[in-house]
Amino acid sequence: MKTKIGIMGGTFDPIHLGHLILAEETRVYFNLDKVVFIPSGRPPHKNWDDITEPYDRYEMTLLATNDNPYFFVSAMEIERAGLTYTVDTIKRLKKENEDAEYYFITGADSLVDIYKWKSHDELLKLCKFVTAKRIGIPNNELENLIDKINKEHRDTAYLLTIPYIDISSTEIRDRVKSGKSIKYYVPKEVERYIKKKKLYIE
Ligand code: ATP
Ligand code: MG
Repeated sequence: MKTKIGIMGGTFDPIHLGHLILAEETRVYFNLDKVVFIPSGRPPHKNWDDITEPYDRYEMTLLATNDNPYFFVSAMEIERAGLTYTVDTIKRLKKENEDAEYYFITGADSLVDIYKWKSHDELLKLCKFVTAKRIGIPNNELENLIDKINKEHRDTAYLLTIPYIDISSTEIRDRVKSGKSIKYYVPKEVERYIKKKKLYIE
């Protein structure tokens, strides 16, 4: 049987329960052998100045995933200088493990941009896409998109039914900045790290 590997890409600034629940639910549903979290280097679509040091985001991702034996963290994108695109990451992973089947895990807000991603057609041939609903993306828009992808690339896009988790990294950064508690929004090790390194205060 083919090894099945989930890939959870993100800025993870910081990683939160939304990411972790989505990854774990995908792992269980698709019976994945592992899920690799890949914190982004310089994300093409985000303003680099506003993003926390890659090292801190990587460290928090490690802390958050440490207690799950199926979760791994890769520094491959943060070690690469310049822009990083999902298609290049997946191609590199495929080269390392040609027989594995890859499942790229995203929230609906990421998937709706798929046709703007670099080499999306090639990417959709290289891996499956698992997505979860997210606030701001109407269900019918998401379902139509998944149908469209599957018409072009059979059995490629899946909608995962998981509890709706209305948490974002943006909200967590805002909460820290305004002195609100982030307890239970992030694993306690991540909460501690944010406090220790005084992240998101400025
Ligand atoms: P930001 O607010 O900074 O954009 P974020 O919470 O969206 O942060 P990202 O690191 O941008 O987190 O997201 C990585 C991936 O996880 C994306 O595919 C995103 O859609 C997904 N994701 C993040 N939070 C959730 C959530 N609460 N439910 C479902 N998917 C999520
Ligand atoms: Mg986001």
